[in-house]
Amino acid sequence: MNEEIERGNAMVGMKRCRNCGRLKLYRRFHRNAMRADGHQPWCKECMAKYYMRNRDRLLPKHNEAAWRSYFKRAGIPTGENKKGKAR
Ligand SMILES: [Zn+2]
Repeated sequence: MNEEIERGNAMVGMKRCRNCGRLKLYRRFHRNAMRADGHQPWCKECMAKYYMRNRDRLLPKHNEAAWRSYFKRAGIPTGENKKGKAR
């Protein structure tokens, strides 16, 4: 997951996540037109972790399939698809 960061051109098209502090490509961030740079301050991985930790509060149960397929499409492993290594 981190190889794309190490591949050089670190300053071009990258953004530092406000949560984990890592420098990541812009496509590792969700878009947000409300933000000055057009992207969320948190990377997708941090957003995924945040949502998973607070999903009971943030998302109604019947939406679980929806957000899971959403993160899947975004290329974020939720850890719930892999059998045997869930925790
Ligand atoms: Zn992050």
